[in-house]
Amino acid sequence: MSVSMIIKWCGQEYSISSLSEEDTVMDLKQSIKSVTGVLPERQKLLGLKVHGKLAEDEVKLGSLKLKPNTKIMMMGTREESLGDVLAPPPENTDAAVVNDFDIEEEVMDIEKREENLAKITRRVKDYKVDEKNPPREGKRLLVLDVDYTLFDHKSCAETGQELMRPFLHEFLTSAYEDYDIVIWSATGMKWIDAKMKELGVTGNPNYKIAFMLDSAAMITVHTPKKGVVDVKPLGVIWGKYGEFYSRKNTIMFDDIRRNFLMNPQNGLKIRPFMNAHVNREKDSELFNLAQYLKEIAKLDDFTGLNHKHWEKFLSKKHHH
Ligand code: MG
Repeated sequence: MSVSMIIKWCGQEYSISSLSEEDTVMDLKQSIKSVTGVLPERQKLLGLKVHGKLAEDEVKLGSLKLKPNTKIMMMGTREESLGDVLAPPPENTDAAVVNDFDIEEEVMDIEKREENLAKITRRVKDYKVDEKNPPREGKRLLVLDVDYTLFDHKSCAETGQELMRPFLHEFLTSAYEDYDIVIWSATGMKWIDAKMKELGVTGNPNYKIAFMLDSAAMITVHTPKKGVVDVKPLGVIWGKYGEFYSRKNTIMFDDIRRNFLMNPQNGLKIRPFMNAHVNREKDSELFNLAQYLKEIAKLDDFTGLNHKHWEKFLSKKHHH
């Protein structure tokens, strides 16, 4: 049997299909070197696991039980490209971010359309939540996107730390005082797990994650202007945890506004964190948002807020 996989590295995808089940992780790393130029000892393959542990070099690929064309994210840089990494990157033109749209432009009845509500009901029933920590009485709910919200998933780096958005742990520590925290990313759970471990979010002693949701909890909706799009409907969480969370006490951060289409009022569009090597020095979005969350946590009902104006809200509070 041959083994095929796709290596995601520095925003590119590389297909590897020349290996068999008898080949080892080291053979894989050699193949990756031949297409990316990254030396095996500098490669870190996120999510490549056997029995829950990172697969060692001598492990046979057959024992990893990978589905064909499984995507694996790699960290690591070429020797010669360390200089490139530190140089200013080209202007970012990520398609999803560039093609994002204002919800106001879209017909607002998307969130009330029966076919969409039926899809949410189905997710409430069928999607299995792997609860890490139970909801806490009286807490608000914070739902966080991962890519470009908590870290830059496209730049080259040796470790996740280099790509992490500044103040991430301080932000989560502060938010956890008032909010239960949920991570929701439009990728697969295996990826989300790997990224959260890499960033040091999983198992962090200063805060806890309630649970994580992946792309399978999302729904597709038809929009008049952009056609079919995938969105993250908070109704899935409200349906499952109606006792604790509702539109009155939930806020969701995402760098892509259309993810809020089913619940625009609850969404806060965060500036995307890109080009980490340059912006790491100056990005203070999470620092400021921690203060916003602190302020609004005093309210019993979030439905009167317009999160588009969060910075204005904050500066007013600071003047009084
Ligand atoms: Mg994102």
